[in-house]
Amino acid sequence: MRRDDACAIYRALATEYAAGKEPRTFIHFENPFQSLILTILSAQTTDRAVNEIRETLFTRYPTPEALASADRQDLERILHRIGLYRTKAKTIKAAAAAVAEEFGGRVPSTMEDLLTIPGVGRKTANIVQSHALGIHEGIAVDTHVKRVSRRLGLTDHTDADRIERDLMAVFPGACWKMINSLFILHGRNVCKARNPACERCIVRARCRYFRETKGV
Ligand code: SF4
Repeated sequence: MRRDDACAIYRALATEYAAGKEPRTFIHFENPFQSLILTILSAQTTDRAVNEIRETLFTRYPTPEALASADRQDLERILHRIGLYRTKAKTIKAAAAAVAEEFGGRVPSTMEDLLTIPGVGRKTANIVQSHALGIHEGIAVDTHVKRVSRRLGLTDHTDADRIERDLMAVFPGACWKMINSLFILHGRNVCKARNPACERCIVRARCRYFRETKGV
C-alpha cells in the first residue's frame, strides 16, 4: 500500500475514534512495573480479567523485589481466574527478579533491555514503552492489529514482528504512537474477526479485503 493511502486510513480512524493524543490503555496500571506485569499476564486472556486481579496482586506484592520473592502457590491463587495462570505465575516472578536484579528495581526504557526480561516480546515491550514510558519505538501488534492490517492490505505476513516492520515502513513515525489503539478500536467495533461490518466501515474505499470480497 502507498504511504498516501496508509496516511488517509490513519486520519480517518483517528477522527472516527476521537482518540486524542494519547494511546488508549485497556489495562489499568499505576506505574511501569505494574504495566509490565499486567501486560505479560494479559496474553490469551481478557483485559477485564487482568484488571480484576490488579489490586490484590499489587497490594500483596507492590515492588519487583516483593514479587520476585513471592510464594508460588500464593501467586497462583491470586491468578487462578486468568488463562495459563501457573505458567504466568512463574513468568512474572522471573520478570520481577530481572527488573530487581538487572535494572535496580526500575523497568528499563529501551527495547533492547526490555527484551531481556523473561516473558517480554516485542508486543509487550512496545505496550510498556508506549503506555507507561511515553516512548514510541515500534508498534505493538496484537490480534486486532494483525487482522485489521492484513485485511486492509498493509501487510501479507502473519508473523507479528514482520507485520510490525511493514507497518513501520508504511506509516510515518508520528503515527506509530496511536496505531495500536486505533486498530484495536476499529477491530473491536467494526472490523470484527467474524463478519466485519464493511458496509459501515469508513476506510472501505482503501481496503483490500473489501475490494476483493465485494468486487469493487
Ligand atoms: S472494509 Fe471491512 S475488512 Fe476492510 S477494514 Fe473495514 S471492516 Fe475491515
